[in-house]
Amino acid sequence: MATIDSAVGDATQRVIDTFDRYVVPNYRRFPVCLVKGEGSRVWDAEGREYLDLFPGWGCNLLGHCPEPVVRAVQEQVAKLIHVPNTWYTETQGEWAHLLSERSFGGQAFFCNSGTEANEAAIKLVRLRTNGEKYKIITFQGGFHGRTMGSVTATAQPKYHEGLGPMLAGFQYAPHGDLAAVEKLVDDRTGGILVEPILGEGGIVPAPPGFLQGLRKIADERDLLLVFDEVQCGCGRTGKWFGYQHFGVVPDVMTLAKSLCAGIAGGAMLTTGELAKHLRPGMHASTFGGNPIAAAAGIATIRTIEEQGLLGHVDRAAAAFRTRLEALQDRCDAVRAVRVIGMMIGVELSIDCAAVVQACLDRNLLVNSTQGRVIRLLPAMTISPADVEDGCDRLADAILEVASHTAT
Ligand SMILES: *Cc1c(COP(=O)(O)O)cnc(C)c1O
Repeated sequence: MATIDSAVGDATQRVIDTFDRYVVPNYRRFPVCLVKGEGSRVWDAEGREYLDLFPGWGCNLLGHCPEPVVRAVQEQVAKLIHVPNTWYTETQGEWAHLLSERSFGGQAFFCNSGTEANEAAIKLVRLRTNGEKYKIITFQGGFHGRTMGSVTATAQPKYHEGLGPMLAGFQYAPHGDLAAVEKLVDDRTGGILVEPILGEGGIVPAPPGFLQGLRKIADERDLLLVFDEVQCGCGRTGKWFGYQHFGVVPDVMTLAKSLCAGIAGGAMLTTGELAKHLRPGMHASTFGGNPIAAAAGIATIRTIEEQGLLGHVDRAAAAFRTRLEALQDRCDAVRAVRVIGMMIGVELSIDCAAVVQACLDRNLLVNSTQGRVIRLLPAMTISPADVEDGCDRLADAILEVASHTAT
């Protein structure tokens, strides 16, 4: 099998040199330059082919360059690229309609990213009571984005380092701890923000009864329940939205990542009643709901339906679960396997960075989070053969790292 040479190829080295001089070094990057992709495969500048189980950091919901989305964007880009939100467009209205029908029947505010969707939700919580009930409760291990509001909402100290003072009005509770939430709520509390399935936190679904309990507290204490579905939304889990696995409906939901199958796009959905608090002039996003994102968002939803991908996700998830649980049975380093559709976490007792590198050596792209969880966010379109191939390579990588590490 071809493996990554320790020497970086010339084509790749030239790109790295350019980055070293001209690109802000705020990301840890592998010495690999990707040039094209198709489905669950991607190629680098040296001509190597990879199997990608983490396409686009969860954004490429339908794999790389899905044909119906490519076509929709190509047609739209030749017609109308961008117009301001002072005008109507057919595409934005249709996109909102499709999202509303598949969720809780509300209205959409469009933006360009997950953090921006959460900022809109934070503003909505404050605006609803004119800033009187401004406090928002969030959860340890959650992740909500990098702008100052969303990063303050992210209750993980490592993301706050050196940034203070943080935005006022956020309070943090341990994930799953309803009693702690009850204790924090006072008459200044306006909302609760939570991921129904922690993504960056290690692919952890809400424990049984937790979201129901939050719904009850929100109803009793007049709070908005906000679900951050930036990672778990849009069909990835085999249902349109993560909350649909739990039977608990939020007042506000935020979306991005998968929303446009790789084109930048975000949305905040809320009920028609609550949406009235975002009056003209109160909030905006210049590129929000632009025709390109809308065309991609519409094509994403239609493709999932026309190709029966929600059902396909259930079958692919079952295949992943079978393979990964079999690995757990014969490898002590695998502590837990969590599979919710195409959100997969493999919790290890060994160094995950070494496993990610061992996967890369096998031309397999995966991610690690929280230092101990291998995270896969495979394309909804992944073939049964690629599931098997991916599990073969991942198992091989984990077994190799485990063989020379004490667990
Ligand atoms: C990635 C992520 C965000 C932030 O999205 P950006 O588009 O990077 O701003 C917010 N919430 C969750 C749950 C995420 O996974």
